[in-house]
This record gives sequence, structure tokens and C-alpha cells, in this order.
Amino acid sequence: MFTSFLIKYAEIGIKGRNRHLFEDALVHQIKYALKKCEGKFLIHKTQGRIHVDAQTEFDFDEVVEHLQLVFGISGICPVVGVEDEGFEKLCDTVVGYIAEVYPDRNKTFKVNARRARKDYPKDSMEINMDLGEVILNAYPEMTVDVHEPDIMLNVEIREKIYIYSEIIPGPGGMPVGTGGKAMLLLSGGIDSPVAGYMIAKRGVKIDAVYFHAPPYTSDRAKQKVVDLARIVSRYTGPIYLHVINFTDIQLYIHEKCPHEELTIIMRRYMMRIAEHLAKETECLGLITGESIGQVASQTMNSLIATNEVCELPVYRPLIGFDKQEIVEVSEKIGTFETSILPYEDCCTIFVAKHPVTKPNVNVIRRHEHNLDEKIDELVKTALETDELIIVE
Ligand code: ATP
Ligand code: MG
Repeated sequence: MFTSFLIKYAEIGIKGRNRHLFEDALVHQIKYALKKCEGKFLIHKTQGRIHVDAQTEFDFDEVVEHLQLVFGISGICPVVGVEDEGFEKLCDTVVGYIAEVYPDRNKTFKVNARRARKDYPKDSMEINMDLGEVILNAYPEMTVDVHEPDIMLNVEIREKIYIYSEIIPGPGGMPVGTGGKAMLLLSGGIDSPVAGYMIAKRGVKIDAVYFHAPPYTSDRAKQKVVDLARIVSRYTGPIYLHVINFTDIQLYIHEKCPHEELTIIMRRYMMRIAEHLAKETECLGLITGESIGQVASQTMNSLIATNEVCELPVYRPLIGFDKQEIVEVSEKIGTFETSILPYEDCCTIFVAKHPVTKPNVNVIRRHEHNLDEKIDELVKTALETDELIIVE
């Protein structure tokens, strides 16, 4: 029955002169999302709205599910579009629409007509009155409520006539690409995919970097990260995932630095390398899945130590979240099942029994000088052997 969707967007409506940029980004993201659906669609903007018109048969549930992944959409209205073949025909269509969409008709309603072309023989008030009457005659169990109707029946008279009344919630947020780009430090854990999702929801495009340490971390651990990136890319669009071989750096730190500082120093090198990649790829910030106090390397003191090696802002959207709250989001976005697969991540191999929880930055810096002989070369090699995987 439905032939198209009217896309509602909240926040982006208020962006003044930048509005068309936001709309174009939204159209772009909708096209990307619908590429994966059966059928052909025409996506176009008209008068502050976005329409998705199906040009072939399509699977309603599949399309709605994919539209619900597009940040910037606040509501998805399934629309019935019919040719204008006279008012009587319109009345029949509306009566049929109600029969199909509302099997239970013990409801109040209001007709809300809009006339976009003035050559239509009735004005909106007349359409409201006349259609209302037809509905009341057809369904005596229904009543009119103009203030808080259960059903707001929208009828838009354009070239064709469009009827809609349902609003399926969208994910909210801003269209990806309107907020610049950031580099996500993506591990195989629960937290970082959620962090990437949250920043992307604010309109930020995501690139990612994963540090692996073969043979200490397996190919399956790497595949898990690729799989997580793929799930996140359902929301963000294609993700450029950099895979950095971190083994030699890690072994060198292990050899030269106190073991209880291993994690912190390793994290500092991850941040440095991630920032280097970020700057090369026009990213405006880094994103991590850190949350205060979750582990020794995420105390406020430890965060000072990891933060100070970067110039770019480090976005930590989970900073105030409990683990359970993070798990809930990861279940919602579909990353949880993959995140809890058991493959080791590179941090667990080298963790000390008693890592420092209050690292002193001066001490850390001093110990990092133990690495002076070879570290620049190792970092250079790691960057040169960056494996880029485009995930979509
Ligand atoms: P996650 O669940 O995201 O792995 P975590 O609780 O395991 O987080 P840590 O291992 O301390 O926490 O890592 C903190 C953050 O550092 C991660 O959220 C991620 O952003 C980044 N990170 C850690 N390990 C890696 C890695 N191997 N590759 C890329 N980023 C990493
Ligand atoms: Mg981790």
C-alpha cells in the first residue's frame, strides 16, 4: 500500500543558512542506507522535507529498518501516494487507508489537509470538513478530536496526493559528515565501538585505527575488529580502518620500561600513532572508549598521562558511563555479541599484575627515554606498514 516515505528531521531544521548542507548530507546517507535494500528509490528534497519514493516493489520492513540507521532522521512517515482522480476517489482511498492501517478504530482523529497547488477545487478547510464527514460516516466508532487526536491524518495535495498518519521514530542525531571527521581507536572490546557510534551520531564521520600484535594477537582478533567496524559502518557509512602492527613497539617497551607502567606507555604510543594518522587524514580529533576508573589505565591520573601526548582533542563519550550502560548501548546497536567473542586483545598479553593507577607523568616521561635508541624507527616502520581496510 505505501509508496513512499516522508522523512522528518528535527535538529537540522534549525541550522539557518547551513540547512541545505545538512539536508544534502542526509540525502547522501539515506542513499547509502537504501543501497542495501531490495528495490529502487528516488530520494529528493522539497520545501524543507525529504521524500523517499519507491519506484519498484520493495520490502517495507527492510526499508524502515535501514532508515532507522540514518542519523539525522527523527521520524519516518510511511506515505500512500495516489493520482488525483477527483475528490470522490480520494475519499475512497482515505477510507481504505484507515481500514488497513487501523484495524482497531476506536480512536479519535483529525484531518490535516495541505494544499500545495491552488488549482485544487477545494481549500484545506473544506477538505478537512468533507473528508472528516466521510470518515465519520464510514466508521461511526471514530470521533473527531482537533486538539489531541489519536490519528492525525495528513493529506497533502501536490501533483499527486499524499496520505500519511504514522510516525516511526528515527535514531535522531545529525547526518554523518556534517560534523567533520575523527579517528576512532577501535579495539575488539565492548567500549570503543559504542564510543564511535556516539560521536558519529553527532554528525561526525569516522575513521578507525586498530593496533594488533601478531603473533600475540591472532588473525581472528583482527577479523573481530573488522566485523565490529562493519557493524558500526551501518550507521556511519564506509570506515577507513588502519591496522597498525604494534608488536615490535610493544616488545621494546616491555624490554626497556618498568612493567607496571607498560600499559600506560603503550597507550601513549597508541595515541601518538593515532594522532599522526588523524592529522594525515584530516581528522579533527581522536575518539576512545575510555571511562573514568574502569581499569588502571583509565583513572584520572592515567588519563592525564595518555592525554598529554596529543594535541588534538580526545573525545571520550563514555567517560561517565557505567559498564552496564555501555553494554546496553552495544546491545542496541548490535556490536555486543561480536565484542564478547573471546579472542585476546593486544593489551591482555602484556598486562602487569599490578599496573600503576596513579602514574606520575614526569616519571613516565623519564622512563620513555629508555626507548630513545630505537623507538622513532619502530614508530616509523609501524606507520609505513599501515594496512588500510575499507569497511562497509
Ligand atoms: P574496549 O572495550 O574499547 O576495548 P577497554 O575497556 O578494553 O575498552 P582499554 O583496553 O584500556 O579499555 O582501552 C581503552 C581505549 O583505548 C579503548 O576503548 C580503545 O579506544 C583504545 N584501545 C585499546 N586497545 C586498543 C587497540 N588494540 N587498538 C586500538 N585502540 C585500542
Ligand atoms: Mg580493550
